[in-house]
Amino acid sequence: MSKTLDKPLPPGSVIGILGGGQLGRMAALAAAPLGYRVHIYTPKDDDPALQVCDGRHIAPYEDEVALAAFAEAVDVVTYEFENVPHKTADFLAGRVTVRPDPKVLKICQNRLREKDFLASIEVPTTRYAEVTGPEGVARALRDLGSPCVLKTSEGGYDGKGQTLVKTGDDLESAWKRMIGAVDGGPGILEAYVDFSAEISVIAARSAEGQVTNYVTVENHHRDHILDQTIVPARVSEQISGKAEAIARHIVEGIRLVGLIGVEMFVTAAGQVLVNEIAPRPHNSGHWTIDACVTSQFEQFIRAVAGLPLGAVERHSDAVMRNLLGDECESWAEILSDPAARLHLYGKSEARPGRKMGHVTRLSPRNWTL
Ligand code: AMP
Repeated sequence: MSKTLDKPLPPGSVIGILGGGQLGRMAALAAAPLGYRVHIYTPKDDDPALQVCDGRHIAPYEDEVALAAFAEAVDVVTYEFENVPHKTADFLAGRVTVRPDPKVLKICQNRLREKDFLASIEVPTTRYAEVTGPEGVARALRDLGSPCVLKTSEGGYDGKGQTLVKTGDDLESAWKRMIGAVDGGPGILEAYVDFSAEISVIAARSAEGQVTNYVTVENHHRDHILDQTIVPARVSEQISGKAEAIARHIVEGIRLVGLIGVEMFVTAAGQVLVNEIAPRPHNSGHWTIDACVTSQFEQFIRAVAGLPLGAVERHSDAVMRNLLGDECESWAEILSDPAARLHLYGKSEARPGRKMGHVTRLSPRNWTL
């Protein structure tokens, strides 16, 4: 019989998380003070979250015997990244409550479905077209204008599976570059946005329909990977207001029970366009661990567990920097700075571009709750 969660999850209960990366690790760390245990389900036996959890289920996402045992062992299921096959979430949802609903995962793991959904709730995005091969790219490039960004519809992250294309480019090799990186089905061609800033908003919605959002933040990328998040974003109140209203509209529109990161571009003309949404804690929200009353990870756990949401106010402004590859070797120097808060993810191999940890530098502010 299916276990349905229709009231707040009592302390001592078990939260199951699909995926064992740093987001799962920080979520598990946030679940502990609320009295919850966390079980991690991942195909990889050296994932960072496995170091801080109460139970581990190491098996492929397609292994229904292992999934059934996982569903048996936990009281609610969530996921820490959107590349978990949605069939896995659907299978589990027949046995135990899954939050956010698997249909949210299905939308967010495919860039085309995601953009179609956003259009259906009148959220402005970059202009886009579905493309299934180099000829389609040439056609769409004429419609959307040059340059464009060619992306896989599924499976890409941190710039993997995407490439800039212009009129006159060799589109055969651009297509190969895109699909060579990840196996992601048909592609999406997006108009290139000459943005003046990249911003994001993290919002949450509880099982009772309570909605909260953190302040709008500003993101800077290096080689398509998030490098720095500056809090708050250095944009006008009008822009941050627009961004926060969009994030709240999305969590309502998708009937989210959970937490979502909304990445947006700001154009010179003052438009705010959604780039993508992620139905889980987001890298641009890591600063909340050290600067807010309730971190994004605790908020995520609260939403998944059916608890009331916590206060999102910040006691400090912050700059969060990712530690990529061997940048994590500067840990001793970071620790000697009293304003710096170091977070390492426990990954053994510091491959170039790999997210090994982050550091948040705080600037305390005058504030009241
Ligand atoms: P994504 O994987 O979609 O989050 O893209 C990673 C980064 O690539 C974004 O944060 C942007 O810096 C850049 N990028 C992605 N799509 C576009 C676009 N349509 N126009 C301009 N830059 C983009």
